[in-house]
Amino acid sequence: MKDFDYFAPETLDEALSLLSQHKEEAKIIAGGQSMLVVMRQGLLAPESVVDIKGVSALDYITYDEREGLKIGALTTHRAIEKSSLIQKHFRVLSEMERNLATIQTRNWGTIGGNLCHGDPAGDPAPVLIALGAKLKLKSLSGERVVAMEGFSRDILEVDLEPDEMLVEIQVPTPRPHTGVAHEKLMVMQGDAGIVGAAVSITLKPGDGVCEDARVVVSNAASVPLRVKEAEKRLIGKGINDHLLTEAGEIASAEADPPSDVHASSEYRKEMVKVFVKRAAIKAMERAKE
Ligand SMILES: Cc1cc2nc3c(=O)[nH]c(=O)nc-3n(C[C@H](O)[C@H](O)[C@H](O)COP(=O)(O)OP(=O)(O)OC[C@H]3O[C@@H](n4cnc5c(N)ncnc54)[C@H](O)[C@@H]3O)c2cc1C
Repeated sequence: MKDFDYFAPETLDEALSLLSQHKEEAKIIAGGQSMLVVMRQGLLAPESVVDIKGVSALDYITYDEREGLKIGALTTHRAIEKSSLIQKHFRVLSEMERNLATIQTRNWGTIGGNLCHGDPAGDPAPVLIALGAKLKLKSLSGERVVAMEGFSRDILEVDLEPDEMLVEIQVPTPRPHTGVAHEKLMVMQGDAGIVGAAVSITLKPGDGVCEDARVVVSNAASVPLRVKEAEKRLIGKGINDHLLTEAGEIASAEADPPSDVHASSEYRKEMVKVFVKRAAIKAMERAKE
């Protein structure tokens, strides 16, 4: 690893000032669970590393019905998994975290680091897209709020300027009669998903017709893949097994997954069918609860 200057700010202002001074030469490190891997592989060799783990003001989880859920970027995966607020109001997030990596990685890795790493196999992004989440980004010159959908630009590339930080994840309260579920194919518990699917379904009260749907797949393209055609197939209809199979087939046809040591592209495409349908069945059951 190449030598670098190391900074450990304790406040957000300090961290933003350092990023503003060092711009392209600097990289943030939070838990280092992904960052150290890419540095050791030589894919990144920053002149300066800004370690934000000590910026404790960015470690929080709050919820109220009107404002929705707010998660500070430095909140660890384990804190999200264990949060009673999240278990009560957003159980899909807690379930997704329980299947993410090992306890050691979840104890130290942060939700902000996961999203900013931009790995198309990442689990939180598809779930947050299905939930309609937004991200608050901040630099010394101001802040902006962007949709989680669209934040990933390409493999390991996200919509962040060099002097910007992700500070907060904002998740709106789901409408009544909404169910959200996440399913991923793992060889062993906690493995990165060979593919994953997050589905949100909102039913009209009474007649069970699908009023709204979101279908998002991970590790099936260079970014988390929202499959709007599959959603259209469900919206406005009384959902049945045949429609859910069709939604899975549409997602599979749109997917362009990689082939690697874990699975071939063809196998992943087959699994997209299975996992979209599986997540949709669970989302439906939850929407009816
Ligand atoms: C063994 C192992 C198994 C894993 N399994 C899974 C899995 O099953 N599913 C899954 O989704 N992930 C998995 N991961 C990835 C893991 O979730 C991420 O590595 C971790 O969440 C990254 O968080 P971090 O705080 O360590 O980020 P870091 O590694 O410190 O940073 C990652 C990237 O984000 C940037 N960054 C960090 N915080 C911010 C911020 N606030 N603002 C702007 N940029 C920022 C950094 O500059 C860097 O580019 C696994 C990782 C390991 C090591």
